[in-house]
Amino acid sequence: MAPWALLSPGVLVRSGHTVLTWGITLVLFLHDTALRQWEEQGELLLPLTFLLLVLGSLLLYLAVSLMDPGYVNVQPQPQEEVKEEQTAMVPQAVPLRRCRYCLVLQPLRARHCRECRRCVRRYDHHCPWMENCVGERNHPLFVAYLALQLVVLLWGLYLAWSGLHFFQPWGLWLRSSGLLLATFLLLSLFSLVAGLLLASHLYLVASNTTTWEFISSHRIAYLRQRPGNPFDRGLTRNLAHFFCGWPSGSWETLWAEGEEEGEEGSSQAV
Ligand SMILES: [Zn+2]
Ligand SMILES: [Zn+2]
Repeated sequence: MAPWALLSPGVLVRSGHTVLTWGITLVLFLHDTALRQWEEQGELLLPLTFLLLVLGSLLLYLAVSLMDPGYVNVQPQPQEEVKEEQTAMVPQAVPLRRCRYCLVLQPLRARHCRECRRCVRRYDHHCPWMENCVGERNHPLFVAYLALQLVVLLWGLYLAWSGLHFFQPWGLWLRSSGLLLATFLLLSLFSLVAGLLLASHLYLVASNTTTWEFISSHRIAYLRQRPGNPFDRGLTRNLAHFFCGWPSGSWETLWAEGEEEGEEGSSQAV
């Protein structure tokens, strides 16, 4: 590995996240917060649980950040060739495109990411905090990470607040608690961002839409051809497919089924 690879954006972002996580945890442990009170009372289970949750959130972050988000293979695998043949059997109306950057035949809902320089299946967005795409393979884990991270942040927020014992003169208080106050403000901001992200992703998942489709539906050919959301199978089935992979089936087939239903509906109307 070349030495300058250590300075790649991915390494810098992941290292930054790790240092920030343990830095904030250390501040909470070093100040007179509820953590210290629990330790003094001999209740070690709560501080230990907090530490394990912090570690769990960090491991989940690294997993989502480092894993293959669902790249479309440039060299089709034998299995994918079969899939491609099946795709060819899907009605002609399915608007499949060839990527103009990596020249692969894009499955429906895939998109080319310029940062990753690859096409990603069921592309959601490129996350700068992860320095990775969120796509078909890591999106469920990304949502799980957001949920766990929010729990850790809210718990951290409570701990920081529990250590802010206000007293006068303010100058002296600020000198002794300035770092904890900064941690409290940082945790408030992160909690707000994580909460909003989790809520928006749960909404998107429940309606089987991606962030990219939600913000750019007017620019996406397969959505322009089908008003409404062609992939929405109802709340329960959307969630079951997202988290458990059931019911299975390709997006092309689902899209084509909706097309046929639409045609039947319109012919009945005539
Ligand atoms: Zn591409
Ligand atoms: Zn990307």
